[in-house]
Amino acid sequence: MIAARTTAILSALPEEQAGLIAQLEQVDVVQRAGRQFWRGRLQGHAVVLGLSRIGKVAAATTTTALIEGLGATQLLFTGVAGGVGPGVRVGDVVVGSGYVQHDMDASPLFPRYEIPLYGRTVFPGDEALTAHLLQAATAVAAHPVAGWSPAVHHGLIASGDQFVNGLVHSENIVAGLQALGHMPLAVEMEGAAVAQVCADYGIPFAAVRTISDRADATAHVDFTQFVTEVASVYAQRIVAQFFKTL
Ligand code: SAH
Repeated sequence: MIAARTTAILSALPEEQAGLIAQLEQVDVVQRAGRQFWRGRLQGHAVVLGLSRIGKVAAATTTTALIEGLGATQLLFTGVAGGVGPGVRVGDVVVGSGYVQHDMDASPLFPRYEIPLYGRTVFPGDEALTAHLLQAATAVAAHPVAGWSPAVHHGLIASGDQFVNGLVHSENIVAGLQALGHMPLAVEMEGAAVAQVCADYGIPFAAVRTISDRADATAHVDFTQFVTEVASVYAQRIVAQFFKTL
């Protein structure tokens, strides 16, 4: 028997997830790996919602639980991130093309940033799923939220177990990656881990991040208000648009 498609939607923060839970039909709450997941239907599509938790290991566990225990056959991530690319402003949206771990360094045994034993540095997003998500994000961006019209960017997302809130720190991350030919648009703390687990299982993955800060000294100030007022609205609209056209 061919299993039906189940789309997992991972959110980084409860504020982003609340709107999705509210729209869910035939809800069934499931506990797994010390986490809570919401199974149900969103616009007729089988989905399972979860919080990634913060950081790479937590997000990897969540992803594994979704695939092994909850039958996820494709995975969508919605979250927030710090903008580090030129012209990537607070309120903009970044759809990942690929995912790199900016804090991975097993040199000189392996080249800096390369994931040991995988022979690769960047895990690409699934092409079809990413194209679809990019389309949904672009459609949503055409309608301003709280007077803001976001630009939609498509490019590399860098993950690490660090909340980047200093200009020197963010410049170092960008310079290090750029020296090896990688130009990140945004930094966050989960995407590359989720992408790696999805690659291990052969599960299509795509992610969209609303830029909540510029990864500088004001990052924590912008963050909370932005998540509730803007990012959660985008996440909800982009997911709705994603399923409307799936
Ligand atoms: N203050 C928050 C903690 C957020 S940690 C709280 O109260 O829970 C930051 C989260 O947003 C992570 O999930 C990460 O993926 C993302 N993020 C947003 N801006 C970031 C930045 N500048 N650096 C790293 N991660 C960032």
